[in-house]
Amino acid sequence: MADRYPVFRTRNLSLTGVGNPVKVGILALQGDFIEHEHILNQLGVETYQVRLADQLENMDGLIVPGGESTTIGKMAVDFKMIEPLRTFGKQHAIWGTCAGSIFLSKDARRDQPLLGLMDIIVERNAFGHQVSSFETNLKIPCLKSGGGRNPAFHAVFIRAPLIESVSGNTKVLSTLPDGKIVAAQQGKLLATSFHPELSKDDRFHRYFLELLK
Ligand code: GLN
Repeated sequence: MADRYPVFRTRNLSLTGVGNPVKVGILALQGDFIEHEHILNQLGVETYQVRLADQLENMDGLIVPGGESTTIGKMAVDFKMIEPLRTFGKQHAIWGTCAGSIFLSKDARRDQPLLGLMDIIVERNAFGHQVSSFETNLKIPCLKSGGGRNPAFHAVFIRAPLIESVSGNTKVLSTLPDGKIVAAQQGKLLATSFHPELSKDDRFHRYFLELLK
């Protein structure tokens, strides 16, 4: 198995301004992991496709991409990744985008394998079918760009979930104008209903990298 699914190292660069190069794993069981890889590599970050538990070793953080949360969950069970991911997430930064945010959640209102790491309840496919996918500009106060400005973040929602509620020490990072939660953070854990890896804006990836320090 290990031979069939080798760690795939895409680049060997350090993150500018950080002493040691950070290593970011991207769970590559299903979904748009390549898009995260591209955006991080453009930022000069080493990325590794993670499919097996031992590939989590030496990772400073992990991204769980968008895709299909039921498939990611079932594959994580088959690849014996559920417990290793839970253990990893207790000490490291993990960011779930769209399906990834569902996989991180404690409750998705249906029976499917979840990591249960974040105190969020999500509603899957909250905006309806594929044709109801949309793009919109979001206010995300935690994202700063040069000169302290904070332009709107162009966010892509594809059969997206909503974060129905947050609890414990989880904080809301962004909402739609009607107050529906679309981004949340609990310590080093991040969840976004949308896909920052599909925007040209790399601020959310930079924000995640700050959590690895
Ligand atoms: N609808 C998918 C799910 O429930 C998520 C879609 C996505 O990641 N773009 O898992």
